[in-house]
Amino acid sequence: MRNSAGVVIVGGGISGCAAAYYLAKRGVDVVLLEKGEIGSEQSGRAWGYVRQQGRHPAELPLMIAASRMWSDLSKELDADLEFIRGGNLVLAETEVDVARFARAERVAKEAGLRSRIISKSEIADIVKGLAGEWAGGLYTADDAHAEPIKTTRAFAAAAERIGAQIYTQCAVSGIELRNGSVEAVVTSRGPIKTSTVVCVAGRWSSRLAKMAGVTLPITAARVSVGATNPAPPITSAGVWGPYVALRQRPTGEIYIGSGYRRPQANHDVTVDSLMNVRMFVPNFLKFRSEFEMSVGPEFVVDVLARLRGRPLWTHHHEPRINERWVRETEQHLYRHFPALRGIGLSRMWGGYIDITPDGVPVIGPVDRPRGFIIAAGFSGHGFALGPITGRLLSEIVCDGKASVDIAPLRCSRFAEGDVLEPMTFP
Ligand SMILES: Cc1cc2nc3c(=O)[nH]c(=O)nc-3n(C[C@H](O)[C@H](O)[C@H](O)COP(=O)(O)OP(=O)(O)OC[C@H]3O[C@@H](n4cnc5c(N)ncnc54)[C@H](O)[C@@H]3O)c2cc1C
Repeated sequence: MRNSAGVVIVGGGISGCAAAYYLAKRGVDVVLLEKGEIGSEQSGRAWGYVRQQGRHPAELPLMIAASRMWSDLSKELDADLEFIRGGNLVLAETEVDVARFARAERVAKEAGLRSRIISKSEIADIVKGLAGEWAGGLYTADDAHAEPIKTTRAFAAAAERIGAQIYTQCAVSGIELRNGSVEAVVTSRGPIKTSTVVCVAGRWSSRLAKMAGVTLPITAARVSVGATNPAPPITSAGVWGPYVALRQRPTGEIYIGSGYRRPQANHDVTVDSLMNVRMFVPNFLKFRSEFEMSVGPEFVVDVLARLRGRPLWTHHHEPRINERWVRETEQHLYRHFPALRGIGLSRMWGGYIDITPDGVPVIGPVDRPRGFIIAAGFSGHGFALGPITGRLLSEIVCDGKASVDIAPLRCSRFAEGDVLEPMTFP
């Protein structure tokens, strides 16, 4: 184990692995520390939408830049990422939906995206065998999807090939400061001296920030999804319906998740979520139909783990699956695609997403301590943003500034009371 490094990245999800790759590419001496395995939290559990459509205005410039990078990423990383630029389609059930999507279409067009409202017959060309009456849809041809775990591992492997060092099963439990600057990280395998820490620890980023004396409001929501057995090709687009959202891998498997008219996620109350509750109330009220909040086993496990001095953030904790929701989603899939009835699910999984009070990530350095840089709180969009997140982090380290405007994403916006207006889409 190294005892010093130019930059220490904490977190081996897509953000951390991409940062390791772009930093190593710039010749930086970089070490990445991951408490579990590469992609063992969100980045190995994501659906894989690479979507520009419906992004918050503060996030859209980053997503457009990311989308350009995705085009060459398989070649750049020398790996099959299952990247398919098949577009993204949001299905409108009613004329009211169409009118709402038309507003999103205008915003997208102003940003230069090829989003457009499409008719029922065009939908039939994009999605084969779709039953039901549809009022129309919003389609963005430039959107895409890819396989999250393959992409995350590909970034890690490419980073290692060009000199980054990656240590898994290595948890960071402290950050040492001196005269207002980062001096070292304390890990389960010994200390590492460094002047720069990149915090890309997903849902545990507020814990890590706290070790450096930084307040970062992040809470977690648990999403439950499933994959069907391989099916004949139905679409190359990412499809977002009112009751089921889906994308089909080249393997034929269809990943399914809740649609936009059904609850999207469980919020399990924990000690951390209670600490931040005040900042999240406006967001929670605005999106209350999307979340189901409960005090369940997670609360008890969290309290017991703290009492035993082995808090949850130091080791792997498999998220519970809301099996009932996934089974309901499966039935909606069969209702929309009668020919798929009985195909069955090969697997289900759960994953926690890291959410900020305004649903937009924090990216950038903090004022104090010097040398502490954050990219977290991706609020369910961090896979698509992964390549640009990594590149921007490397620019912040090497050039002292980012090539895309990240000022709206600064961490201090919460303390300044300049929280962004959360966006509802679709
Ligand atoms: C079911 C599901 C579906 C999703 N679908 C999409 C989608 O379609 N498109 C999209 O763009 N996004 C999607 N997301 C969100 C996306 O997965 C995340 O935004 C993204 O993966 C975040 O990557 P990350 O690297 O920032 O965090 P993570 O992947 O969570 O990685 C953080 C890592 O830090 C490690 N860590 C934490 N604390 C420490 C510590 N103290 N020491 C060492 N290591 C530590 C963790 O073990 C973890 O591996 C989805 C998420 C889920 C759960």
